[in-house]
Amino acid sequence: MNEKVKTYYKNNFLYAGHRMVLPISGEKFRNSCDQCKYYVNVIGQHETKRICLYGVKAYRTGSKRVPNSIEIIDLILLLGKEALQGMLTRDGQHQMACGNFEQRL
Ligand code: SF4
Repeated sequence: MNEKVKTYYKNNFLYAGHRMVLPISGEKFRNSCDQCKYYVNVIGQHETKRICLYGVKAYRTGSKRVPNSIEIIDLILLLGKEALQGMLTRDGQHQMACGNFEQRL
């Protein structure tokens, strides 16, 4: 690397800091699913699990209010057993927010 290039990188603040956070990424890294309005408690017979309801069209479009917690029977009636089972098995760790994050009020 010649001296001119070395000086350029040395004086470049973003390179010197060794991190460059894009504005959208900043939003994603700052938030977690725990603070998202789509991440709700699903109350079952034996346990309560948290799942993301963004995939449910009724909640995503705003035609239904997203509750803080919901009984599993209501979700089964809304989605069907197979679709709900698919959502529960597909659900990841949900630590970092995705691009669809909306702050819980
Ligand atoms: S941040 Fe994204 S993945 Fe997490 S709960 Fe909200 S919509 Fe779902």
